[in-house]
Amino acid sequence: MGGAISLLIVNFVIAQLFTAAFMVTAAKSRSRQAAQYCAAGFAVASLAAVFETVVPFTSFPRFFAISAFATMLAGFCLLRFGLGLFYRVPASWQVLLAFFLASVALDLVIYPMQRGTLQHAILYQLPFFIIQAWSATAVWRSRRRSAADWILLSLLVLTAGYCALKVYIAVAAGSGTTAQDYVSSPFALVSQALGAMLIVGTGLAMLGVMIKDIVDDARARSEIDLLSGLYNRRGFIERVTPMLQPGRPAGTLILADLDRFKQVNDSYGHHTGDEVIRQFARVLSEVMPNRAVAGRLGGEEFAVFLPSTDLEEARVVAHGMRAAMMSQKIDGLAEQARITASFGVAAIAEGEPLEQAMQRADKALYAAKENGRNRVECADAPQTVVNPLVPQWIGRP
Ligand code: GH3
Ligand code: MG
Ligand code: MG
Repeated sequence: MGGAISLLIVNFVIAQLFTAAFMVTAAKSRSRQAAQYCAAGFAVASLAAVFETVVPFTSFPRFFAISAFATMLAGFCLLRFGLGLFYRVPASWQVLLAFFLASVALDLVIYPMQRGTLQHAILYQLPFFIIQAWSATAVWRSRRRSAADWILLSLLVLTAGYCALKVYIAVAAGSGTTAQDYVSSPFALVSQALGAMLIVGTGLAMLGVMIKDIVDDARARSEIDLLSGLYNRRGFIERVTPMLQPGRPAGTLILADLDRFKQVNDSYGHHTGDEVIRQFARVLSEVMPNRAVAGRLGGEEFAVFLPSTDLEEARVVAHGMRAAMMSQKIDGLAEQARITASFGVAAIAEGEPLEQAMQRADKALYAAKENGRNRVECADAPQTVVNPLVPQWIGRP
């Protein structure tokens, strides 16, 4: 008896710790509600251990046994609801509630049945099997397939499988002839030990996916420029660099800088200046091809990477951007006032570092400014990028 009760206490403490961990996660997560439901799920499920412990010592075993069942199942229902919110595969709370009430009613019906029989074991485990399988489908249907999602999915499937296995264990090992005997049955010991392992595993996996989401979100935010909604310099470099690996067709780079932007700030104020930056970002995004990557490198300087595009095609795109900007009417500016931008375009040689291509595009941009602004200038072809792995005498007379 002592062993099973210690395990019940361990389960209670573990569930409480997870409640606390999910509460902390909720404070940082963008799926705050999802984490709060998971915290509530563990808090409610932890009560099951308390009720279970009381069963052998009370004169109302039926009440405590059914409460244990109900709190455990309610906890799983709350976890399913939280997972649904997190994975955007919501479960209707009305359906969950109906499922919960029907399951408790079923438990009331089977209470007087002889325990340890196949029929009792199946009917007792069925609701747990359904709720775990239902949680697993939420992860599956979300189509999120990171390692953390796979681990959680596997553990939920494993837990559902474990509910089915418990039917066999209950019949084979015996789960006590009455609810009071349960705590002293060999079944209770095996069940609580395996249950504790699965609770810890599933809880950790759920925390894992939520913490990964917080980290991914923070990383994405650190790479996005809030004013323009485009990548910032860091995000732009992170996105484009892998697209410039040797062996891949390179592309072209367009650098753009608004003309006489200081005057806009001086004449109309910083707020209007910000609006111009936003508008220019919109123009770049609208004119650039779908697969292009755009970023605001700083101030009113922007970069657009066009994969698998040659210099002439990129020059046409840059002209499109220039013309589109020139025709924009900008809120806060005089009716006739228009803002222009200058562009420098460079074709990136295969294997050329992004930094070097940026320097060449910047020179072309400088030339566009020198030559009167509101222009597109193209950079000279890059100097041959020497591949150190290819002997240089090959092909020479
Ligand atoms: P040029 O045609 O030679 O480019 O002249 P310019 O006046 O545009 O010169 P420059 O590119 O050096 O101007 C940069 C100005 O951009 C200076 C700064 O006040 C302004 N600026 C930088 N970041 C922001 C911003 O986030 N918001 C606003 N409103 N202005 C900014
Ligand atoms: Mg400028
Ligand atoms: Mg500038």
